[in-house]
Amino acid sequence: MSSTTEAEEPKKKPTEAGNYFISNYPPFSFWKPENKKDVDDAFLEPQDDGASLGVYHHIPFCRKRCHFCYFRVYTDKNANEIKGYLDSTINELEHFARQPRIAGRKPRFVYFGGGTPSYLSASQLTDLTDRMKAILPWDEADEIAFEGEPGTLNPRKIQVIKDVGVTRLSLGVENFDDRILDINGRAHRAPEVYKAYEAAKAANFDQINIDLIAGMVEETDENWQRNIEETLKLRPDSVTIYQMEIPYNTTIYKEMKESGSLTAPVADWEVKRRWVREAFEALEKEGYHIGSGYTAVLDPEKTKFVYRDELWSGADLLGLGVASISHIAGVHYQNINDIYKYIETVDNGGLPIHRALRINDEERMIREFLLQMKLGKVSFSYFATKFSIDLAARYAEQLKELAEEELLEYDETGIRLTRRGLLCVDNLLFKFFLPQHVTDRIV
Ligand code: SF4
Repeated sequence: MSSTTEAEEPKKKPTEAGNYFISNYPPFSFWKPENKKDVDDAFLEPQDDGASLGVYHHIPFCRKRCHFCYFRVYTDKNANEIKGYLDSTINELEHFARQPRIAGRKPRFVYFGGGTPSYLSASQLTDLTDRMKAILPWDEADEIAFEGEPGTLNPRKIQVIKDVGVTRLSLGVENFDDRILDINGRAHRAPEVYKAYEAAKAANFDQINIDLIAGMVEETDENWQRNIEETLKLRPDSVTIYQMEIPYNTTIYKEMKESGSLTAPVADWEVKRRWVREAFEALEKEGYHIGSGYTAVLDPEKTKFVYRDELWSGADLLGLGVASISHIAGVHYQNINDIYKYIETVDNGGLPIHRALRINDEERMIREFLLQMKLGKVSFSYFATKFSIDLAARYAEQLKELAEEELLEYDETGIRLTRRGLLCVDNLLFKFFLPQHVTDRIV
């Protein structure tokens, strides 16, 4: 892949409110409460399609709400309330683990996301994971991934995280500058990053990932270069870099609304892409490989991200907890997104489903195609075998257009995004949506 000059970057575009990152298809706005019955049916499906199983556990607690955060998080819950929530997630798991689609299966991957999973105490973590394993044993899992906020980690807790079986620890560093962390509402500070990283190295996890955000409020060229340098000094197994987006339910958007501003107080898309490009180039020089539009990995043979790769190729995902997202036997669904309603529903023996959508084979194919495009390459034979589809013929027009813009290249074997295409991959994907799914609510 060739690098590009700044003049070749996609047109300058300010950061306005809305979602940029595409994480699923069809978009969430098409998932409806009236489709809940499809979830019951999905769990009655047989296990004869070879899909792997993953479990996602959502911990919606944080020390502080970051100004760019668009998740439903709670910053005021005490130990009893947290225990009550964790008990409900176990009740939820017990229920689904008995269903025909899940019974007797063992997860190939488990993911603890949030919120802040590392907000849990060492004893809460041990208790939660023991109970989860007793219901669906992890002994055949290839990956147990866990998100950690540096300021919530200490050597003892990190050792517990390792001892419960976590193989991939992802540290939400976001930035190495205390002032920028502060302005953006992050709870941790840079010294905690170094301490947490050192302790994680000492605990010998299979993989340590560092998350960064390009384009936090008040980010500068100079500071971004420092972020790259500090990351290279730590030399984690993988680095994930997100381009800052400002969804509608963020504190930053509320402030924009109050001041009547249409543009977020962060760098425009052109600058954010340049920052990611510069980071990727610096990482490549130091031996990293670019594995998607967001990640660089040191050793692609050793450093897999099973959760992402399995999810993006059609695995079943059982999401536990408030607002979590699941995909079971061709049905997408999301849980209730209010913690009190979630707990009440589960504890009363109900299913905590908020909205759902059964997807057809064509939508399933598009979903996998879009998600695999984010990896930067798509194999035509994979789709021919799995979906009996000739992608080159189906998308002839779009591929020609994007190739002319030098955003991708393709031949008879498949598609490869150029670096420029990879850095704005989420913008390209709308071209492959079914017409009924293109709405202004997505971006
Ligand atoms: S730590 Fe993550 S989940 Fe928690 S408030 Fe910040 S961005 Fe949101």
